[in-house]
Amino acid sequence: MELLKRKILDEGIVLSNQVLKVDSFLNHQIDPLLMQAIGKTFASLFRESAITKIITIESSGIAPAVMAGLELGVPVIFARKRKSLTLQDDLYTEKVYSFTKKEESEVSISRKLVSPVDRVLLIDDFLANGEAALAMARIVEQADATVAGIGIVIEKAFQNGALKLKEQGYRVESLARVASLENGSVEFAN
Ligand code: 5GP
Repeated sequence: MELLKRKILDEGIVLSNQVLKVDSFLNHQIDPLLMQAIGKTFASLFRESAITKIITIESSGIAPAVMAGLELGVPVIFARKRKSLTLQDDLYTEKVYSFTKKEESEVSISRKLVSPVDRVLLIDDFLANGEAALAMARIVEQADATVAGIGIVIEKAFQNGALKLKEQGYRVESLARVASLENGSVEFAN
């Protein structure tokens, strides 16, 4: 997606050979017009997949997921990282090892929200080693629903997440694929 790649080149900050910071449009401040274009692109990629629900993880997946949900006309669920007073029982819960925080946490979704008839599109902001996407996929499988696809805003193609997900048979669509962050600059894969 050219608009997204342009934005990454103009505003992305390479923090290390492994980590890209995009706080000006995705991870802290959000660019609504860009998110709308991202939602339309995900919708066009998955329009034929009979999606009934979108699942993402709070918080940075929510903006692109909601825009895709608006375009596809389906509800969006965000897996929650902390149990709250209003979300304690009757949950599907999975562990996720966070690439950026280097710690394990749990994500949960209410059992009421996913059922075996659902065909779920998983959306996330970044794909690194695939831990977040695999945790969401395990939740969908716990619910006996189907993972119909995985939509990623920025894939770091030099890490092995996409490979792992594809090996498990999932369709992965990434809107920008970063081949390298070496020497402080962003190189895209073809
Ligand atoms: P994975 O679970 O695929 O290893 O890592 C993906 C998750 O870690 C994403 O949900 C995202 O929050 C975070 N993440 C991984 N790599 C980066 C990165 O380079 N930049 C930012 N901002 N987040 C990242």
